[in-house]
Amino acid sequence: MLVLKFGGTSVATADALRAVASIIDDRRAEIGGVIVVLSATAGTTTQLLDVTRQAGSGESYRTALDDLLDRHRRIATELLGSAACIENLCDACSEYADAIASLGEWNTATLDGMAAFGELFSSTILQCLLAQRGASSTLVDARELIVTEVDTPTVDTEATTKKCLERLTPLLQTGNAIVTQGFIAADADGRTVTLGRGGSDYSAAIIGASVAAREILIYTDVSGVYSADPRVVRDARPLPSISFEQMKEMAQYGAKVLHPETITPAVRASIPVRVLNTFSPGDEGTCVTSTATTTSDSCAVSILRSVTLITGDAELSDHIRAQRALRPHIVMSHGTFHRSMTAVLCSDEMVSRHVEIALLHHKHQQRRASMVMVTGCEAERAHTARLIAAELETMTGRALILPMSASCIAAVVDPHDADHCARVLHAAVTRRPDQV
Ligand code: ASP
Ligand code: MG
Repeated sequence: MLVLKFGGTSVATADALRAVASIIDDRRAEIGGVIVVLSATAGTTTQLLDVTRQAGSGESYRTALDDLLDRHRRIATELLGSAACIENLCDACSEYADAIASLGEWNTATLDGMAAFGELFSSTILQCLLAQRGASSTLVDARELIVTEVDTPTVDTEATTKKCLERLTPLLQTGNAIVTQGFIAADADGRTVTLGRGGSDYSAAIIGASVAAREILIYTDVSGVYSADPRVVRDARPLPSISFEQMKEMAQYGAKVLHPETITPAVRASIPVRVLNTFSPGDEGTCVTSTATTTSDSCAVSILRSVTLITGDAELSDHIRAQRALRPHIVMSHGTFHRSMTAVLCSDEMVSRHVEIALLHHKHQQRRASMVMVTGCEAERAHTARLIAAELETMTGRALILPMSASCIAAVVDPHDADHCARVLHAAVTRRPDQV
């Protein structure tokens, strides 16, 4: 059985939803059936949250809400000839907003309640489209599948697994495609909760793990996880496969990949997660697996644009090291010269109060820098990357190389040099053996 998850841009227009429907048609022959998890149409969640705050604060919300409802009506009408299938939802959404306005306040519960409409709209429209195309499908409310602890987004795994198996197993046996919503769940008291922004990937991973799916396919608008940002490195290409560990490193150091935490339920259950492109479904995409793979095909370069580089003495080093245990975003290296040290703080929020205080009391130098990371390389290529980074260091006189692990190095460079450094390192580590 497969879990197919489609993100916001994959469901944002009538054409995109047609592409989704034909991917489902192609995949539905899968033994054991398919479960389809949908995001809200792109931008909708943010607008629903805005409407909730506006309505609860006595500001005008009607125009924004009507625009949003009309946008969904237009998509439904273009696909189905009428918007009848979502009229009840439109009414319920309107009434909910009006109720928040007359209450004159908003809170987590009403934000969640309102945001849930986004996924309810997209999933309802898709299921009607599948029905119209003659494909048998069932719409299941995600609140019957995912259970959280009371008033929190913390998923109760045991209860969720039980619910998913009870509700989904009989449906899967009928061969129907099951359509459900990402992002939304119910707490143990039955109240609607949401799983955090971008939570649909998490929903797909939770549901996939509960029913032991063969694979989880995450459909987006790009053809996988790229070896670098294609806007910076022109010949960046999708990586055929990466390990979960590498994906975590990439996400931590600036790459726009799946948020690693969202797929941990799948990784724990050893279910491969494949990132695919709705608009180019024949592309191979990237397979994220729990097992490590470091081949010439898995090398990637990412850029963290803004880090803080601190150099100081041994005493400062002790203070920062103490912080480091709590904050993996602090990377350190120690020079031999007067036991000097260099620390790179990867995000400004990470400059905790303790580090700030230590900095007040110790002589140090501090400057802005960018960090270019090379991840996923086997030893030989990591070595090449290190040599080239060293060359860049001598050339600019300003780079700093930090070996992070056997398969991962970081070059800390002047922000102006970051793109160039990324291109040079990318060329070096992705060169095929016959081109070396
Ligand atoms: N619709 C939700 C959001 O935009 C969840 C998701 O798309 O993953 O955050
Ligand atoms: Mg989204």
